[in-house]
Amino acid sequence: MFALMQSTRTHSLHLCVDPATGLKAVIAIHNQRLGPAMGGCRYLPYPDDDTAMTDAIRLAQGMSYKAALAGLPLGGGKAVIIRNPHVENRAALFEAFGRFVDSLEGRYITATDSGTSTLDMDCIAQSTRHVTSTTTAGDPSPHSAMGVFAGIRATAMARLGTDNLEGLRVAVQGLGNVGFALAEQLHAAGAVLLVSDHDPGRVQLAMEQLNALPVASEALVSTPCDIFAPCGLGPVLNSQSVMQLRCAAVAGSANNQLTHLQVADQLETRGILYAPDYIINSGGLIYVALTHQGQDLGTITAHLARIPTRLTEVFAHAQAEKSSPARVAQQLAEKLVYNA
Ligand code: NAD
Repeated sequence: MFALMQSTRTHSLHLCVDPATGLKAVIAIHNQRLGPAMGGCRYLPYPDDDTAMTDAIRLAQGMSYKAALAGLPLGGGKAVIIRNPHVENRAALFEAFGRFVDSLEGRYITATDSGTSTLDMDCIAQSTRHVTSTTTAGDPSPHSAMGVFAGIRATAMARLGTDNLEGLRVAVQGLGNVGFALAEQLHAAGAVLLVSDHDPGRVQLAMEQLNALPVASEALVSTPCDIFAPCGLGPVLNSQSVMQLRCAAVAGSANNQLTHLQVADQLETRGILYAPDYIINSGGLIYVALTHQGQDLGTITAHLARIPTRLTEVFAHAQAEKSSPARVAQQLAEKLVYNA
């Protein structure tokens, strides 16, 4: 774990167990140069503790880059609670997690993520004020989806020469809080949807409400389309899967879409434009950060509108330097995060 912390330049890793509630949690703080570390809390099953810690570390690094490129005065952090099927009192578990967050005295601020809801954040808020996306503050997912939708239009403009999505085939992988809201906006804009989700109920809903065409989960990556939008979990693009893609661009909400940066070079070689995940999916972070600061919706909307602009700049920069957008984004982020 120390080797991974060193290679990702992670500041600290905090662990907590609370036998009374069954809590087993990890908080990774990547960097706090620009401000306190903010990032969501996942509540998912993990095959082992190392996988959970690795997830928190990698995601926290992405949060530092995301906050920096979004121009927010925040560092990056992430929490993982290992889902325990035998937990009887979910509220008590999240209250215990709130005490863990509070023990870090504001160095980490939590939020919703995969497997957690605004109601869970309300429970956390019983024990700490270092929490966002409560029921009062609101769910960030629709704002993430809005940012991804605007980012897809910017990506289409850069790669296909138009931001009119009418008739464009978009493959949405994962129809959760962000993926479904994104699919709704794409449908309203006239895009043809190809969708997959491990949960058949989500696919059925998209077929009924959005005329989406279902594709088996393992087949979506190789389905011909204009834009592939990963909105599920985990790194979907590795050196093998990237060779199966049959799209013009990749632009979706999922965090950590690439297993490593060389995959971005493969995408570039194949002429597939990649919208860096931590830029295109920053809408939710922008929403929670500015809500936490007490900003109004007008200010938040104006800040969200910078996502496609930032993406367009990165695409242009990458083209000028004959590099991949992922490498350019990483260089820009590292300059800000490490003052390098
Ligand atoms: P979610 O848990 O609500 O939904 C994820 C969905 O994807 C689930 O329905 C799951 O069944 C499905 N899924 C997972 N892997 C899949 C795969 N390989 N193929 C098909 N379906 C798959 O999560 P969410 O909040 O919608 O977030 C989706 C992604 O976007 C995550 O990677 C998350 O970290 C990232 N993200 C979310 C936000 C936000 O505001 N919620 C913000 C930024 C980034």
